Amino acid sequence: MHDRVLCNVNREKRNLNDDKTCPICKNEEEDLLHKLRDCPHVRYILTNFCPTEMRNNFFNESCIQTCLENCLKNQRVDETWSIAFPLICWWTWRWRNQIVFKDGVDIPVNKLKFLWGKIREAKAAITLNTDGVARGCPGQAGGGGLFQDYDGAFLVGFSLNLGHTTSIYAELRDFLNGLRMAKEKGYKQLDVRMDSMACVKILNYHDNYKRPSLQVVKQCEALIDNEEWIVIITHYYREANLAADWLANTGASQPEPTRRYNRPPTGLP
Ligand SMILES: [Zn+2]
Repeated sequence: MHDRVLCNVNREKRNLNDDKTCPICKNEEEDLLHKLRDCPHVRYILTNFCPTEMRNNFFNESCIQTCLENCLKNQRVDETWSIAFPLICWWTWRWRNQIVFKDGVDIPVNKLKFLWGKIREAKAAITLNTDGVARGCPGQAGGGGLFQDYDGAFLVGFSLNLGHTTSIYAELRDFLNGLRMAKEKGYKQLDVRMDSMACVKILNYHDNYKRPSLQVVKQCEALIDNEEWIVIITHYYREANLAADWLANTGASQPEPTRRYNRPPTGLP
């Protein structure tokens, strides 16, 4: 950050202001650390997001750069905090400027609630539940999938008639269709949930797959690599994947190869 943020201490140094006092608490000098962490108004917000075990280090560190670095280093330990801290820095700075330079009308009444919303948006992974079924091995097969936003709202869904094939092939073809739809929709951060452990292993670890699955897996990989997506594939229990299962069974019975749903179809669990 190189201490270039124009808080009042830095404004005074540059002869832009003759008062170093914090315009929010009006109690202490507003240097960078005060603005980003120590002002009671900001500290109250940070305390609500900083994990208990990190509070001591975080609030006693004398260098804001180190605070930031610690926060990023702990990304794997606490994803929410590593997103929350930069967001809080940004929004509290913005609110401070609205108070100083404008009338502050855009400042939310419930800042904590507002910031939780922003964190959820930042996480922003779109969920894709997929499923493939085959009535026999091989047998008449179908695929289905649905996209939901971070709040669980239905975005778009599909069902596929995949002809006569195996359930593994149906699962993979269904996933490929999901990726293509995600590409079309511009969903680049995908949290994919499928209930076939065999498919999760194939896609994540290249575990024991052969033709014709090989070709489909290669197509999936090419799409993911080319688009620089963040695609996380996790195994999900069947009971938690009922909507995709319902769509896959619909697909196996439908006459047309593909059906798209812009709202949840009647009967979707
Ligand atoms: Zn202050």
